[in-house]
Amino acid sequence: MKIDGGCHCGNITFVAEIDPDKVIICHCTDCQRLSGSAFRVVVRAPRDKFELRGGKPKVYIKTAESGAKRAQGFCPECGTPVYSAAAENPQEFGLRIGTIRQRAELRPAKQIWCRSALGWAMDLRALPQVAKQG
Ligand SMILES: [Zn+2]
Ligand SMILES: [Zn+2]
Repeated sequence: MKIDGGCHCGNITFVAEIDPDKVIICHCTDCQRLSGSAFRVVVRAPRDKFELRGGKPKVYIKTAESGAKRAQGFCPECGTPVYSAAAENPQEFGLRIGTIRQRAELRPAKQIWCRSALGWAMDLRALPQVAKQG
């Protein structure tokens, strides 16, 4: 599936081709902190199917518990997280679903790192639902 998207300020834009059945939610503590939210939703794009346009992302290198180094690309102007990838010679990019224009069509198929999931984030249905700011 062809997708396109960009950061909040419009500095970074991209086009990609992804498998819409491979959308995952990650509840790991790194994703919680790096997204500034309860969990992160990601879809992977192979290197040759991901093309950045517009501005150049700033890259933060994260070292995981395992020692693996991951590059976190974000917009230097507005801070929107755009992708993560292996720090060296990346073969694929994990795109942040909130930056993808077609995100409403991309339903997650799996949740990982559930051991660190915030309990309430696993069940939001019971909360009152307000169409706009409540
Ligand atoms: Zn931006
Ligand atoms: Zn994660």
